[in-house]
Amino acid sequence: MRQDEAEVAVVVVAGGRGMRAAVGDAPPLPKQYRLLAGRPVLARTLDAFIASPAVALIQTVIGVEDRERYNTAISTCLTPKASARLLPPAVGGTTRQGSVRAGLEALAAAGFSGIVLVHDAARPFVSEALLARAVAAGGTHRAAIPVTPLADTVKRLDASGCVVETPPRAELGAVQTPQVFAFADLLAAHRRAADAGRDDFTDDAAVMEWAGENVATFVGDRGNVKLTHPEDFALAEERLTPPMSPRVGQGYDVHRFGEGDHVWLGGVRIPHDRGVIAHSDGDVVLHALTDALLGALAEDDIGVHFKPSDPRWRGAASDQFLAFAVERVRARGGRIDHLDTTVVCETPKVGPHRAAIRARIADIARLPLDRVSIKATTSERMGFTGRGEGLAALAMATVVLPVEPVR
Ligand code: MG
Repeated sequence: MRQDEAEVAVVVVAGGRGMRAAVGDAPPLPKQYRLLAGRPVLARTLDAFIASPAVALIQTVIGVEDRERYNTAISTCLTPKASARLLPPAVGGTTRQGSVRAGLEALAAAGFSGIVLVHDAARPFVSEALLARAVAAGGTHRAAIPVTPLADTVKRLDASGCVVETPPRAELGAVQTPQVFAFADLLAAHRRAADAGRDDFTDDAAVMEWAGENVATFVGDRGNVKLTHPEDFALAEERLTPPMSPRVGQGYDVHRFGEGDHVWLGGVRIPHDRGVIAHSDGDVVLHALTDALLGALAEDDIGVHFKPSDPRWRGAASDQFLAFAVERVRARGGRIDHLDTTVVCETPKVGPHRAAIRARIADIARLPLDRVSIKATTSERMGFTGRGEGLAALAMATVVLPVEPVR
């Protein structure tokens, strides 16, 4: 059998305690179990291998106290297709080297022989292309590792932090995982290293180098970062946040004046010598804002969601209409950036109530005040508002929505 037809297994090393990524004094949750955009890092890492038809077996190595965490993590990626290839986890040693060895021994016990990839659980961004390069390198080399060029110059330092020398940067490379090996050779090298009392190798290529094997390289991937420090998690979270696009919606509403002693504007009761004729409380500001939000969402209009013929809305407080539209934005994974309204009427005077209206809209929409605007104008006694027959409101809503629907 040619080596490039050999079966491919991957050992995912998830036994570490991840102390460097710990925040504050909290007992550190190992970083491979921390949530990244809602899913454990380990689950996202395993996804890449589960998705690859090239990978026949996946052997995860976990810490002895992490069995529950492991079960929770993989419950988010267990499809029948995944379960068939995911071997029961092996329990790791106290060092990374010991953990890899445990994974290799578990594969050996399962009768595996072929090509093995060894990958750190804290690298959840393995691309299909990188995985393909690794498998290809495994077809032609007994040991190969992904390398990226260094952006920073590297110095060798002495114990006091003084520079001893500057190795030429062109001769250096940053090494990632997955590293790929002929399984039998890597297992033999690990067993020899353990027998020799060595447990300090930080990657598997180093074990092979120590065993006298040649280690080839292939092109790594800068995106394949190892989550190490708290800021790495913040950047990774950003990477997984869907791109958003802005939407602007407009709304317009009118109500005719009728019998009464108050009107509602923006959820605020304003004493007046007339009321408005309406099925609900006739709040033109909240109705226009509701339509502006529904417009930004392209989800019909207020009359479709709250039928005027429905007795439930007789005399209803209109804050529930706006709250509904706000909730729809949230359900779509979106965010309201700004709400702007203009009230058009000769009377009542809006000015004295402007601050209260603004605060009430901000409260209903759960927005800070500086994202809510309320303005008012007369019509210079022209037209229906100018003749005092009723009042009107125009509204604009600026919303950002995920470009792709949220899963
Ligand atoms: Mg209305």
